[in-house]
Amino acid sequence: MIEGRYFAMLGPPASGKGTQGRLLAERLGLAYLSTGSRLRREIEKGSDLGLRAKTYLDCNQYVPDDLAIELVHSWLSRCSEGWLLDGFPRSLVQARALMETPIIVGTSSDLPIQVIHLTVPAAELRKRVTTRRECSNCGATTTSDHQVCPKCGSAELIARADDSTEGFEKRLQSYQSLTLPALKVLQESLAVHTVSGLGSRDEVSLAIQEKLR
Ligand code: ADP
Repeated sequence: MIEGRYFAMLGPPASGKGTQGRLLAERLGLAYLSTGSRLRREIEKGSDLGLRAKTYLDCNQYVPDDLAIELVHSWLSRCSEGWLLDGFPRSLVQARALMETPIIVGTSSDLPIQVIHLTVPAAELRKRVTTRRECSNCGATTTSDHQVCPKCGSAELIARADDSTEGFEKRLQSYQSLTLPALKVLQESLAVHTVSGLGSRDEVSLAIQEKLR
């Protein structure tokens, strides 16, 4: 039995955050936000937020902290019943903002946020990005072996523009220099569960559930 209702899922690019985040959110009936997918959607729509984010995503850089925090806070203010954030926080400033979240969203000050940290060796991540595909219809992540999305059946499976070798290396570097130090700070105040992201979708999902019990 998993007690928690508030989670942040972190991991390097292609570690399986999206897949595992969605699975856990579905299993526990939590609202789910992938900041990366939301930013890509806002860019497609040409919204004000999308326009502010575009240049950063085009260069494989993290968006500025204030933009990421604005996105997350506005989403959190609409769901207090339990949530999972995929890809937030990614920096020290964002980590501090998350730790102050209970005050900002007006919920209980002892809101027990738990962090799930997925680890995968860089060589495996490099292999994964070359075969990763994203469903344009529902946003699910799959691999190039599939002709249609295993989740919604759509045939619109596309390689992400930022999954080039160069794009991936840049994002991995940001993860190491900005997100790993943020994890250290989170560890001082929140429960951080480190789980290996190696293995099948179901194996990793099981490993996450065991850590959370
Ligand atoms: P990945 O983990 O492979 O980079 P995501 O879909 O999680 O993929 O994120 C895509 C991009 O969106 C990131 O490289 C970054 O530019 C931007 N992004 C997402 N979340 C954040 C965040 N919390 N802070 C800053 N930038 C973010």
